[in-house]
Amino acid sequence: MKEIHYQDIVEEVKEMCKKSNTNLGEDVYSAFRKALKTERSETGKEILAQLIENADIAKAEQVPMCQDTGTAVFIVEVGQSCHIVGGSLVDAINEGVAKGYGEGYLRNSIIYHPLNRKNTGNNTPAVVHIELVEGEHLTIHMTAKGGGAENMSDLKMLKPSDGMEGVKKYILSIVKEAGPNACPPLVVGVGIGGNFERCAYLAKKSLFRPLGIRHTDPEIAELEEELIIEINRLGIGPQGMGGSTTALDVKIEVESCHISALPVAINLNCHASRHQTITVN
Ligand code: SF4
Repeated sequence: MKEIHYQDIVEEVKEMCKKSNTNLGEDVYSAFRKALKTERSETGKEILAQLIENADIAKAEQVPMCQDTGTAVFIVEVGQSCHIVGGSLVDAINEGVAKGYGEGYLRNSIIYHPLNRKNTGNNTPAVVHIELVEGEHLTIHMTAKGGGAENMSDLKMLKPSDGMEGVKKYILSIVKEAGPNACPPLVVGVGIGGNFERCAYLAKKSLFRPLGIRHTDPEIAELEEELIIEINRLGIGPQGMGGSTTALDVKIEVESCHISALPVAINLNCHASRHQTITVN
């Protein structure tokens, strides 16, 4: 059985938090550049150029690309033959987040309680999802998830008879309703199936797939492509100022569900689509 040390996880998570906020992923950066060539509105082009410049400055000066440095959300694949020594996995992640947000001078956005609103002061606790998998590896996926886009996300238990058309209509209505509030251009994460809570998780998980990578199921891949076109026809555009780039990508994850149900969740991600993946050895 492989041993992975608590402190190694802390150090990796700390660096992930800093890097995700300052170095925009190559996939998102390339999507900005591609959109700059296809965007039809002059204002939209200007905003995309500013987003590229913003990402360049953030990287060069190692400053956050947005003042909202997000909720630290993790999906951790834990190999069933891997043993974490020196402390618990969740504690290690939270310690890494606290250190990363502190050292990186990143805004602390987490409060103790949704009603008393007192800040915890170190951006913890993180949201941690654990998936037990085969093998002895520990792979950590992290996103610094912006609050504005999260607030415009939605979940609905559709009727099975709503079918594919109902799903598309619902997704388009949520993106339309979000308008400028989710900080477009967006990455639209969609979960279809599972049950109430599982479907929200699928939508979140879909956002960890790099931009431009389609679902392995050709039917779902086709739906993703169709929705990118339909969403970009809404005319919301970069920062909601009008234009043909409302979504940089659409990601869908699908799972089996009950015969009576058609759960659909939409987790919107803003243009600061920050995700990192590392494997701790
Ligand atoms: S939703 Fe995204 S772009 Fe908007 S303020 Fe939050 S992190 Fe920044």
